[in-house]
Amino acid sequence: MSSEFRRLPSVDHILAEERIKELAKDYPHNQLVSLIRQCLERERLAIADGELSASFDKIVESIQVKFDQLGHLSLRPLINATGVILHTNLGRAPLAREAIAAMEIAAQGYCNLEFNLDSGARAPRDAHLESILCQLTGAEASLVVNNNTSAVILALTALAWKKDVIISRGEAVEIGGGFRIPDIIRQSGTKLVEVGTTNCTYGADYEQAITPRTAALLRVHSSNFRVIGFTHSVTLEEVVELGRRHTLPVLDNLGSGCFLDTTTFGLGPEPLVAQSVVLGAGLVCFSGDKLVGGPQAGIIVGKKQLIDKLKKHPLARATRIDKVRLAGLAATLVHYLKGEAVKKIPVWGMIATPLVEIERRAKKWAEVLGNLAHVTDGESVVGGGSLPGSTLPTKLVAIIDKRQRRNTAQTLARRLRISKIPIIGRISGDILFLDPRSVPPEEDKVVLETLREFAAILLK
Ligand SMILES: *Cc1c(COP(=O)(O)O)cnc(C)c1O
Repeated sequence: MSSEFRRLPSVDHILAEERIKELAKDYPHNQLVSLIRQCLERERLAIADGELSASFDKIVESIQVKFDQLGHLSLRPLINATGVILHTNLGRAPLAREAIAAMEIAAQGYCNLEFNLDSGARAPRDAHLESILCQLTGAEASLVVNNNTSAVILALTALAWKKDVIISRGEAVEIGGGFRIPDIIRQSGTKLVEVGTTNCTYGADYEQAITPRTAALLRVHSSNFRVIGFTHSVTLEEVVELGRRHTLPVLDNLGSGCFLDTTTFGLGPEPLVAQSVVLGAGLVCFSGDKLVGGPQAGIIVGKKQLIDKLKKHPLARATRIDKVRLAGLAATLVHYLKGEAVKKIPVWGMIATPLVEIERRAKKWAEVLGNLAHVTDGESVVGGGSLPGSTLPTKLVAIIDKRQRRNTAQTLARRLRISKIPIIGRISGDILFLDPRSVPPEEDKVVLETLREFAAILLK
């Protein structure tokens, strides 16, 4: 074994190798040495485990591969053909062109992020979004933070630290990725008092739970599931009325947050932010990158006196939004103000795409796949914790490789995932489906190119 250790090359020996000298043109000496040392250490451990030492050539090659991986960006663009418009794992909302342009400008140089150009004095960054958010929602004031989860934590910490918050048992839900509303709320140092049962909660349940320790009432829009059958829930009006009688603020966590009437697109109703404000919720919070269709953000609108409390809380500093996303969100919100959201914001464009248009694109996609594909009826979903159980009719490209017997859908899906620009489809009943609804039409050229190469490989 000791002879195997002795066979390992020295760091200097590796550094003198031609291929490593090539790497030295791109990477500084200390990075090279550190990576070579790590590689040799791995070899030593392998030998200690009883393996033979790798050849000099293999070692050099593994160093090259490692630098190749490190130097390439791991975050890559891809085609979302899953038919889930707001796919959290695939980055949620693609942004409007104007939002992207605004973000590029904000990223490029300095800006008046916290600076009043008139007086030359410091100014709060919230000011850039406040007037437009108030105009869109009818609220008195607003605050924008990192994401909706931090909005909920900030609001509850500022309003109810070391006190009780009442929530209906049916709304103490998991929001995805293993994150649960009750766990998040506990982080805010407030005590969660759950009332009612999973399927039924009444106004009296809240009423009985209110004590001098109660600091707020929380309503959570059950955004990713539906309870059907024997159910009863308390409306926001009722919760607001209870809050009024007991002088308790009501926090309405809408999850997605919506400015347009979803029923006009053949979807179920999604509560509107303005509606919660009109009904008297003290604070309404929602995500920037779900149905709003902007960059990741947590938007809070509501009564000025409550928002002011949040703005003064130290957690507001810890959860604040950065200049790039602030710029993108502002540009996105302008589209709602101008009544051009459906035309300009990709998420709404996808929701509003007529079936005939999707069918036309699906046929084009299927055409390049020849015998491998046919077009069939299907359903797309909005996703991102909105509109549970509500779907949009779509046309799917079903891909079937008749010459293979086993796991064909999995194999085909993987092949598409590892193409130069990955295409992500969805598998159902061992068939791979591609849904054009969640693919911006500008990406069709890339889709067709990729599918053509994919078909060429399969039919070889
Ligand atoms: C999505 C969602 C959240 C989390 O929002 P992020 O912006 O992803 O942090 C919280 N609550 C509900 C009800 C949601 O749907």
